[in-house]
Amino acid sequence: MQHYSIAVPRNIQFGENLLQELPLLLPPGCRVLAVCGSHCRRRVADLLPGAVIAPPVRAELPLEDVENLLQLARSEKITAVIAVGGGSVMDAGKTVAALIPLEGSVKEYFYGERKIPGKGVFFAACPTTSGTGAEMTSNAVICDAATGIKQSLRHPEMTADLALVDPVLTYGSPADVTASSGFDALVQAVEATLSRKANTFTRSISMIAAMQIFEHLAGAVEDDPQARNAVAEGSMMTGIAFAQSGLGAVHGIAHPLGSICRVPHGVACAVLFPAVMRRNMPYARILNDIFGSDPLEKYQILLRKCGLPGSFRDYGLKKDHYDFIIRNCRSGSMKCNPADLSDSDVAAILDEVC
Ligand SMILES: [Zn+2]
Repeated sequence: MQHYSIAVPRNIQFGENLLQELPLLLPPGCRVLAVCGSHCRRRVADLLPGAVIAPPVRAELPLEDVENLLQLARSEKITAVIAVGGGSVMDAGKTVAALIPLEGSVKEYFYGERKIPGKGVFFAACPTTSGTGAEMTSNAVICDAATGIKQSLRHPEMTADLALVDPVLTYGSPADVTASSGFDALVQAVEATLSRKANTFTRSISMIAAMQIFEHLAGAVEDDPQARNAVAEGSMMTGIAFAQSGLGAVHGIAHPLGSICRVPHGVACAVLFPAVMRRNMPYARILNDIFGSDPLEKYQILLRKCGLPGSFRDYGLKKDHYDFIIRNCRSGSMKCNPADLSDSDVAAILDEVC
């Protein structure tokens, strides 16, 4: 029997209009720093009148933004951090909450010169897009523009104390954002299901999540509230699963490809998925249970329906980029992929999506 351990936020809350409950779920008497996406700053400021509202952080979370946030949090003597936004916002909040009580800069922890010893201050994560799963994971992805390095800061104790998933926060978000974050969630759910590190517990969650996202994603892109709720729930479940099981080669390749060609993460995953899955087919009979017969055709139909491209032609992926992508794709995700992929397999995958 396989050994495994499961780490999840201490308190997971899912449901419509739950954000208004947030003040009641915070530690009594805490001094709050709120990191928010730009469209919900007003709302969060009204909800938490005493909170310090942080300046916005950028997408592809820059190290510099987290550094500024940490200085602000320490000078304001913050004892609880809440993040209401997409992946970068949650990763920024997660990092700052871990580092507030410690000495040293974000950079020192990012490059391993200092180690996170344990639990930071209280941290609550409230996603406003359905896709990243960052409310469930114990890592934060940060980019250092000075060196071009994009990597995770991680510690088991960085897992949120409270993950509050209110699907109403996703209502009305633009179709392209919904499509790319939703495909990220779908690909994550499938990769988590096929991962070498998956187990019965995680697979039972990620597989249902994949089916639910696949069924409702087109409706969510059209802003149907019931479909939005279903995709938000699927994305949350996916986060729980892949925080334990890891992902696969789509994510391994998507990271360097996204950084060199500036492709949004969800789009990179969505486009790479069929080419990678063709190599996983001997291990991937489960795709028929998720998508039905002819799984990759069904997938392509959904991709077109959601307005996403079938290749990276518009992003200028060229043979010159292959070397960088092949050198930088051998991450933890790659090691979880069921099929072993050689450098020439990766090059052949890139040929199919050029
Ligand atoms: Zn992803």
